[in-house]
Amino acid sequence: MNFHQYYPIDVVNGPGTRCTLFVAGCVHQCPGCYNKSTWRIDSGKPFTVLQEDQIIADLQDTRIRRQGLSLSGGDPLHPQNLGAIEQLLGRVRAECAGKDVWIWTGYQLAELSGAQQRVIALADVLVDGKFVQDLRDPALIWRGSSNQVIHYLRSPVAQQA
Ligand code: SF4
Repeated sequence: MNFHQYYPIDVVNGPGTRCTLFVAGCVHQCPGCYNKSTWRIDSGKPFTVLQEDQIIADLQDTRIRRQGLSLSGGDPLHPQNLGAIEQLLGRVRAECAGKDVWIWTGYQLAELSGAQQRVIALADVLVDGKFVQDLRDPALIWRGSSNQVIHYLRSPVAQQA
């Protein structure tokens, strides 16, 4: 997997103070996409074990408490990103108790493959659907167009378990 940006402290992409990773690779080609430079799967730079370690360390940082991890792009559920994302989220679940995981994808929840479903089983929230320019609404929170849906996959109690 390649990625474009990593923000160790982010207050824009999801609730609270977070770590945010923008990965490379997206097949959806939405007109008006804000992040066209991420479409190519080989764009950006390699996501290494060192980068993975950095994210885990930042989530564990007790000086600046992060609520969780946000994954955007590009598309974290691009078929070629699934292995790396599943490994990263497996570590977040094992090593970062109490942190929530938000994923933004251009796919819709109902159309996810088995491999994509395995990944979102490790997440708390999925914001799904392509960006549709005609449905763009700047008043929306956490999404760009009104067709996109915020799916809360786990209850807050389950997140802490
Ligand atoms: S899903 Fe997101 S990154 Fe992909 S083309 Fe649409 S707006 Fe751009």
